[in-house]
Amino acid sequence: MSLTDTLNRPLRDLRISVTDRCNFRCVYCMPREIFGSEYPYLPHNEVLTFEEIARLARIFTQHGVKKIRLTGGEPLVRKDAHLLVKMLAEIPNLDLTLTTNGALLAKQAQALKDAGLKRVTVSLDSLDDEIFKALNDADFPVAKVIEGMDTAASVGLEPIKVNMVVKRGVNESSILPMARFFRERGYILRFIEYMDVGHTNGWRMDDVVPSAEVIRIINAEMPLEPADANYRGEVAERWRYTDGSGEIGVISSVTHAFCRDCNRARISAEGKLYTCLFAVNGHDLKSLMRNGATDEDISQAISRVWHKRADRYSELRSENTIDLPKVEMSHIGG
Ligand code: SAM
Ligand code: SF4
Ligand code: SF4
Repeated sequence: MSLTDTLNRPLRDLRISVTDRCNFRCVYCMPREIFGSEYPYLPHNEVLTFEEIARLARIFTQHGVKKIRLTGGEPLVRKDAHLLVKMLAEIPNLDLTLTTNGALLAKQAQALKDAGLKRVTVSLDSLDDEIFKALNDADFPVAKVIEGMDTAASVGLEPIKVNMVVKRGVNESSILPMARFFRERGYILRFIEYMDVGHTNGWRMDDVVPSAEVIRIINAEMPLEPADANYRGEVAERWRYTDGSGEIGVISSVTHAFCRDCNRARISAEGKLYTCLFAVNGHDLKSLMRNGATDEDISQAISRVWHKRADRYSELRSENTIDLPKVEMSHIGG
């Protein structure tokens, strides 16, 4: 049964956060001053088990979900993440992928592939160690992330996509070196506008480098032309190099909102359903499950939430919305 919300948007894409913890402290996501050792991370018994995640995933696919992305926090810090992949890979006709910071990818790539993962997206914000370490704030070197990507490619977790968040005055100088490097490697680099997610990263509009500027910078050296979207609701706008040497993407959540086609739901590590990246409250599916709800009860709860959905935060974003309370990115995984 296909579900639609108040703006006639279907439910197609589900992002599942498997942990709220991370081995990085990216300044735009989990700034160390706030996400220190005192931060109230979820106790283990509050985090959904693999069985609970797989149960929800099955119910969501019955509502039209075609794609599931595992995220976090850092999904690969969750013990035995590949076992969850194996459970989800049993669901028929599902595009199963994962977003990772790459730190543990070289070690886990083969197990993830064997478990049935199709491909991965790896985040990397610069090729320059000094800039990258200033952003990840965990003294983590670029070479290890590249090693993770290359191992993933070698075991067939392809195409490899690379996410680069661009922050004004911090890593703009990395745009061209990243584009050159990943064109050569054949990985699809996607530039993400820095967003006002959560309320801990001190976001200001001035920190955003508009995608149009990224395209201009690259086009001046390596000519680009727009490419068609792969499907309706695709988040990244695609551009290809005119010489046929590959493509890049831009995710313009700030300068060119795409709420109109947004078909994504998110489940936090503690089992709350969020219908927007900028939502304030989630709907508690874990309590339902732990209080003995049947699949039908859960299915109806999901329908009720989606039927009422009217979110379009990015289209309404203004100076007045920036200070509104919102869920943190590390809870629901971008
Ligand atoms: N830890 C994994 C990783 O970093 O790839 C998965 C979770 S992370 C929250 C998912 C994506 O969100 C990453 O590509 C990250 O760069 C991006 N992200 C985090 N905070 C952001 C922000 N304020 N604006 C734009 N993108 C952000
Ligand atoms: Fe961790 Fe990913 Fe957030 Fe960076 S963006 S702090 S790697 S969850
Ligand atoms: Fe979807 Fe909310 Fe982002 Fe708009 S702001 S695209 S509704 S997640």
